[in-house]
Amino acid sequence: MADLTAPQFTDETAARAALEAVRWPNGPVCPHCGSVDDNVTKMEGKAHRPGLYHCKGCRGQFSVTVGTVYERSKIPLHKWLFATHLLAAGKKGTSAHQIHRMLGITYKSAWFMCHRIREAMKDTSSLPIGGGGKHIEADETYIGTKKGYNKARSTHHKHAVFTLVERSGKARSFHVDKVTAKRLDEIMRANASIESTLNTDEALRYVKMGKPFAKYQVVNHGKGQYGLGDHTTNSVEGFFSIFKRGMKGVYQHCGEQHLQRYLAEFDFRYSNRAKLGVTDKEPADKALKGIEGKRLTYRRINEASKAASLG
Ligand SMILES: [Zn+2]
Repeated sequence: MADLTAPQFTDETAARAALEAVRWPNGPVCPHCGSVDDNVTKMEGKAHRPGLYHCKGCRGQFSVTVGTVYERSKIPLHKWLFATHLLAAGKKGTSAHQIHRMLGITYKSAWFMCHRIREAMKDTSSLPIGGGGKHIEADETYIGTKKGYNKARSTHHKHAVFTLVERSGKARSFHVDKVTAKRLDEIMRANASIESTLNTDEALRYVKMGKPFAKYQVVNHGKGQYGLGDHTTNSVEGFFSIFKRGMKGVYQHCGEQHLQRYLAEFDFRYSNRAKLGVTDKEPADKALKGIEGKRLTYRRINEASKAASLG
């Protein structure tokens, strides 16, 4: 865990400088027209709010938060960086309740902050995971209870999650309406390299899906096999156990419309974990880079959560 008393977490000017360094390693870039270097000048003096730049290219003004999930927020930037760091770091992340207490802001503000940061953590890469000589593990799990049911009696009354994990690599999770071979196959085609070896349990829907892959290996849990050699689904099962433990106390209230965002958060931490040689500072910097172009407005998220209780 980085030093939480570091200047960028306690001081507004230091926070802005830290975010500028991550977003603009080669100097400021105008978010309106892309101008750089001599075309961009810092507006000095007390007449301007700090951190403001003028662009000669488009005659516009901008600061480092324009076009990001932090834009137009009343919460100071150093609190945003603090919360982003807490959500990106460690294995389990930090709940909105903890952030509410640690930052001395309302629970509602903390809840909205967390959802915006999750948006920043979304993996927008269109490249498939896996590849030649690599293993992908695929599995599904069920969580929570769909609206209109008091208690989930069967998996039909729960929310389904389908996850692909590259062994010793990244995770990608998808909230699916219904677990059908067709839907899972679409996700697989878009996200997994067929050069990989695919590992699944014995569910029949995977058999056809496994065909295009370089190799397909089945772990037969029904026959008491829990991994023979490299025939395992231990990585994806490990991911699900972290996810379920982390969602405890949250998922009962987690509206279906928010589930994909929680999954983005768990995928992010799993894909940037220390085991992969990622240092403590890197995940937070990566999340900070992801803030661009994903502005999640209060209204949009508010509408989405209207029906659901805060969770
Ligand atoms: Zn410009």
